[in-house]
Amino acid sequence: MRPATQALGYAATRVAGVALVGLLLGALLRRPWGGAALALGAYLLWSLAMLYRVEWWLQHRSVAEPPEARGVWGTVISLIARLHRRKRFHKERFVQLMRQLQLSTAALPNGVVILNAQREIVWFNRMAARLLGLRHAVDVGVRIENLLREPQFGRYLEKGDYANPVVVRRSSPPDSYLSVQLVAYGDGQQLLLAADVSRQMRLEAVRRDFVANASHELRSPLTVISGYLETLAQDPGLDPEFATPIAEMRRQAERMTAIVRDLLELSRLEETDERAGGEPLDVAGLMALLRRDVLARPVHPREVRLRIDSDAALVGKESEIHSAFANLVDNAAKYTPPDGSIEMHWWSDFEGGHFAVSDTGIGIPAEHLPRLTERFYRVDPGRSRVTGGSGLGLAIVKHVLQRHGAELEIASTVGKGSTFTCHFPPERVLAGQGERLSG
Ligand code: ADP
Repeated sequence: MRPATQALGYAATRVAGVALVGLLLGALLRRPWGGAALALGAYLLWSLAMLYRVEWWLQHRSVAEPPEARGVWGTVISLIARLHRRKRFHKERFVQLMRQLQLSTAALPNGVVILNAQREIVWFNRMAARLLGLRHAVDVGVRIENLLREPQFGRYLEKGDYANPVVVRRSSPPDSYLSVQLVAYGDGQQLLLAADVSRQMRLEAVRRDFVANASHELRSPLTVISGYLETLAQDPGLDPEFATPIAEMRRQAERMTAIVRDLLELSRLEETDERAGGEPLDVAGLMALLRRDVLARPVHPREVRLRIDSDAALVGKESEIHSAFANLVDNAAKYTPPDGSIEMHWWSDFEGGHFAVSDTGIGIPAEHLPRLTERFYRVDPGRSRVTGGSGLGLAIVKHVLQRHGAELEIASTVGKGSTFTCHFPPERVLAGQGERLSG
């Protein structure tokens, strides 16, 4: 039998017992019903007193001992005491867990901010307070974009692609950088992770400056060497024995000049991570110019076609767009045999503007495609050296496209050819402006 049912049976027996005793004692005085009523009344009074004691205990149960009782009251009190003990145990465990959680998040070297579905701050750890300058009293409930107002973070939120962190430059302390990433969880909530990357960014700046300075310093000696080699090559009195080595030296000097030029261009592109501004560019005009350059090469693919399916202008920085497109066309020309062909295609649709360079050249094995835009990455280093490539062309293309919010798509089949497509977002396309610019 369960304790409550047992207690109820016991209580009923006790009431009946009290009534019977009252009845018997009343019978001795010839008032059996009076005796029973008196006994039951006394029992009721005792029960009320117990109720009062239990209520008092419930109100002071954290400090007071439970009242001593047997029977139904004893059972009720022990049930309540057991529930109370269990609740206290769970509460203590929860508090302990919370304390552990607080201690571990406080010890985290990264800032953590919990945001609700409206991106309002719900909670943050000590590091987040330090890195983002947050204060518990005023900043809880405030939208994160109102506190982290840097344009890089605004663009990151706008884009909505949180797979990678964004580096944000902060004004205070001066020259400090934060890496910030949003991680979605639960029902629309987000976790904002922040880390101080100022040291890495400073090292990166040192590396960039070193490459830029070294390239810059190499430029003048190279110009002198190339100049003398050219004069020597044109000297009619030159011993024919030297003709081949001098031609080779000129080729290598040209390669070095190309590498230095591309390194300088990359450093210039890397100097700022701001989006490139720009003016409307006549893509068709640029394509005609690039076609002429290919046909002016001593060896070039037989056919260079232009396909212009849009009269839209592209909004961008002319020198950068020119350099990116020229690199793609230059590669197509370099890696396509003379009996092959190249096609440049410009079109626009609701997704934006697209510029593609296709060739019927040697193609690229699929395993190389993901690494192609890395600096100095070459599929076939020997061949690239012969063609005079710096290995930096596609790295420049990638940087330029990044600065224009565009993406590079590469498709290639070995032995059949390759297609490099630049996809520009709609805000970079001005419909009907291309013809006006060229006219
Ligand atoms: P490079 O100056 O060596 O051409 P890039 O960065 O422009 O350097 O290109 C990297 C590598 O990608 C090249 O070395 C070449 O192997 C490969 N590549 C680029 N474009 C093409 C193409 N159109 N066809 C075949 N291979 C290409």
